[in-house]
Amino acid sequence: MADLNKALVLAKEPIRESDYLVVLYSEKLGKFSALAKSARKINSKLNSALEPGNLIYVKFVKGKNNLTIIDAFKIGVLNITISDLEKLAVILSGSADKNIWNLITNKNIDWKELIKLLGWDPENAYCLKCHSKDVSAFEINRQFFLCSKCFLKLDSKERLDFLTF
Ligand SMILES: [Zn+2]
Repeated sequence: MADLNKALVLAKEPIRESDYLVVLYSEKLGKFSALAKSARKINSKLNSALEPGNLIYVKFVKGKNNLTIIDAFKIGVLNITISDLEKLAVILSGSADKNIWNLITNKNIDWKELIKLLGWDPENAYCLKCHSKDVSAFEINRQFFLCSKCFLKLDSKERLDFLTF
């Protein structure tokens, strides 16, 4: 049986010869990965529907080891950078949350609000380096806060792993 789900495409990675592994955040299911078979072939209509940043309706079936996308069509596109989508792919969890869905499909994502919805507490957090209470950046892999002064001391590559608010 195949369900129709509204979802945001977070990432798309080529795997095998002609397939993609797609990371989606769905209104009803939260974050999950699904296989798009043959989507890398030139005439695949799945390929263009599954561009990161697209809002889509997606239909998939459950296989033994994974979900396989059998249909997808684009209903809109978010004004969000690939780098922000990658950050979302890291911090979002597999549980569905209506408030998170509404927030990330909003025009401009309120990162501080998102961090709160995901269970962290920026209001009572301390900068990891100088212990200032005035935090304005959150590291997504190791999950700690920095104040703006300490954040600005980082080089541009290190800054890529932070959400700033
Ligand atoms: Zn600091």
